[in-house]
Amino acid sequence: MALSKLDSLYKAVVTDHTKTPHHRGLLPEQAPHTLHNPTCGDVLSLSLELVDDRIAAIGWDGDGCSISLASASMMADSVLGLSVTDALAMAELFSQMVQGASDPRQKELGDAQFLSGVSKFPQRIKCATLAWNALKDALAEGE
Ligand code: ZN
Repeated sequence: MALSKLDSLYKAVVTDHTKTPHHRGLLPEQAPHTLHNPTCGDVLSLSLELVDDRIAAIGWDGDGCSISLASASMMADSVLGLSVTDALAMAELFSQMVQGASDPRQKELGDAQFLSGVSKFPQRIKCATLAWNALKDALAEGE
Protein backbone atom coordinates (compact mmCIF):
# COMPACT_ATOMS: atom_id res chain seq x y z
CA MET A 1 0.00 0.00 0.00
CA ALA A 2 2.81 2.37 0.88
CA LEU A 3 4.37 1.64 -2.48
CA SER A 4 1.27 2.48 -4.51
CA LYS A 5 0.83 5.67 -2.50
CA LEU A 6 4.41 6.67 -3.33
CA ASP A 7 3.76 5.71 -6.94
CA SER A 8 0.75 8.01 -7.23
CA LEU A 9 2.63 10.83 -5.49
CA TYR A 10 5.45 10.35 -7.99
CA LYS A 11 3.00 10.51 -10.89
CA ALA A 12 1.32 13.62 -9.51
CA VAL A 13 4.62 15.45 -9.07
CA VAL A 14 5.89 14.48 -12.54
CA THR A 15 2.58 15.53 -14.13
CA ASP A 16 2.72 18.81 -12.26
CA HIS A 17 6.21 19.66 -13.55
CA THR A 18 5.36 18.50 -17.07
CA LYS A 19 2.23 20.66 -17.25
CA THR A 20 3.77 23.68 -15.58
CA PRO A 21 7.54 23.49 -16.04
CA HIS A 22 9.65 25.71 -13.80
CA HIS A 23 12.40 27.90 -15.27
CA ARG A 24 11.66 26.80 -18.84
CA GLY A 25 13.18 29.16 -21.39
CA LEU A 26 16.87 29.75 -22.05
CA LEU A 27 18.65 32.81 -20.70
CA PRO A 28 19.21 35.11 -23.68
CA GLU A 29 22.69 36.28 -22.67
CA GLN A 30 24.21 32.88 -21.85
CA ALA A 31 25.44 30.22 -24.25
CA PRO A 32 23.35 27.05 -23.78
CA HIS A 33 24.75 23.58 -23.22
CA THR A 34 22.83 20.98 -25.18
CA LEU A 35 22.80 17.27 -24.48
CA HIS A 36 21.03 14.39 -26.23
CA ASN A 37 19.78 11.09 -24.93
CA PRO A 38 19.77 8.94 -28.07
CA THR A 39 18.14 5.93 -26.40
CA CYS A 40 14.93 7.92 -25.85
CA GLY A 41 15.31 10.86 -28.23
CA ASP A 42 15.40 13.52 -25.51
CA VAL A 43 17.15 16.82 -26.18
CA LEU A 44 17.91 19.26 -23.42
CA SER A 45 19.54 22.70 -23.44
CA LEU A 46 20.55 24.49 -20.29
CA SER A 47 21.88 27.96 -19.63
CA LEU A 48 22.89 29.48 -16.36
CA GLU A 49 24.42 32.60 -14.95
CA LEU A 50 27.01 32.45 -12.20
CA VAL A 51 27.46 35.42 -9.90
CA ASP A 52 30.11 35.14 -7.18
CA ASP A 53 30.26 31.36 -7.66
CA ARG A 54 26.51 31.00 -7.23
CA ILE A 55 23.79 30.04 -9.69
CA ALA A 56 22.03 33.39 -9.93
CA ALA A 57 19.80 32.43 -12.85
CA ILE A 58 18.96 29.23 -14.69
CA GLY A 59 16.87 28.41 -17.73
CA TRP A 60 16.34 25.33 -19.87
CA ASP A 61 14.47 24.17 -22.89
CA GLY A 62 13.99 20.76 -24.35
CA ASP A 63 12.03 18.20 -26.22
CA GLY A 64 11.48 14.66 -25.08
CA CYS A 65 9.66 12.37 -22.70
CA SER A 66 7.87 13.63 -19.63
CA ILE A 67 10.55 12.31 -17.26
CA SER A 68 13.33 14.23 -19.00
CA LEU A 69 11.30 17.46 -18.98
CA ALA A 70 9.99 17.05 -15.43
CA SER A 71 13.52 16.29 -14.25
CA ALA A 72 14.84 19.49 -15.84
CA SER A 73 12.12 21.50 -14.12
CA MET A 74 12.90 19.88 -10.75
CA MET A 75 16.65 20.24 -11.21
CA ALA A 76 16.34 23.98 -11.88
CA ASP A 77 14.27 24.37 -8.69
CA SER A 78 16.84 22.39 -6.69
CA VAL A 79 19.99 24.23 -7.71
CA LEU A 80 18.93 27.85 -8.25
CA GLY A 81 20.78 29.97 -5.70
CA LEU A 82 23.29 27.29 -4.77
CA SER A 83 27.06 27.59 -4.94
CA VAL A 84 28.83 25.61 -7.67
CA THR A 85 30.12 23.12 -5.07
CA ASP A 86 26.67 22.56 -3.57
CA ALA A 87 25.05 22.23 -7.00
CA LEU A 88 27.60 19.58 -8.00
CA ALA A 89 26.93 17.75 -4.72
CA MET A 90 23.19 17.80 -5.56
CA ALA A 91 23.93 16.36 -9.02
CA GLU A 92 25.95 13.56 -7.42
CA LEU A 93 23.21 12.87 -4.88
CA PHE A 94 20.63 12.67 -7.67
CA SER A 95 22.80 10.41 -9.80
CA GLN A 96 23.30 7.98 -6.90
CA MET A 97 19.60 8.09 -6.02
CA VAL A 98 18.38 7.04 -9.48
CA GLN A 99 20.90 4.21 -9.38
CA GLY A 100 19.15 2.92 -6.26
CA ALA A 101 21.17 4.43 -3.40
CA SER A 102 19.32 5.69 -0.34
CA ASP A 103 20.65 8.72 1.51
CA PRO A 104 18.82 10.98 4.01
CA ARG A 105 20.24 14.04 2.25
CA GLN A 106 18.07 13.19 -0.78
CA LYS A 107 15.34 15.30 0.85
CA GLU A 108 17.42 18.35 -0.05
CA LEU A 109 16.68 17.60 -3.71
CA GLY A 110 13.12 18.89 -3.24
CA ASP A 111 10.68 17.53 -5.81
CA ALA A 112 13.55 15.78 -7.61
CA GLN A 113 13.63 13.23 -4.77
CA PHE A 114 10.36 11.80 -6.15
CA LEU A 115 12.25 10.52 -9.18
CA SER A 116 13.94 7.88 -7.01
CA GLY A 117 11.52 5.29 -8.46
CA VAL A 118 13.31 5.65 -11.79
CA SER A 119 15.99 3.31 -10.38
CA LYS A 120 13.59 0.45 -11.14
CA PHE A 121 13.53 1.37 -14.83
CA PRO A 122 17.13 1.36 -16.10
CA GLN A 123 16.10 2.71 -19.51
CA ARG A 124 14.66 5.84 -17.90
CA ILE A 125 17.74 6.66 -15.80
CA LYS A 126 19.32 8.49 -18.75
CA CYS A 127 16.10 10.50 -19.20
CA ALA A 128 16.17 11.56 -15.55
CA THR A 129 19.89 12.41 -15.44
CA LEU A 130 20.02 14.33 -18.76
CA ALA A 131 19.31 17.72 -17.17
CA TRP A 132 21.74 17.07 -14.33
CA ASN A 133 24.48 16.13 -16.81
CA ALA A 134 23.80 19.35 -18.72
CA LEU A 135 24.15 21.18 -15.40
CA LYS A 136 27.53 19.55 -14.75
CA ASP A 137 28.68 20.56 -18.25
CA ALA A 138 27.56 24.14 -17.77
CA LEU A 139 29.23 24.39 -14.35
CA ALA A 140 32.46 22.88 -15.64
CA GLU A 141 32.63 25.59 -18.30
CA GLY A 142 31.71 28.33 -15.86
CA GLU A 143 34.72 27.65 -13.68
ZN1 ZN B 1 13.35 10.10 -22.14
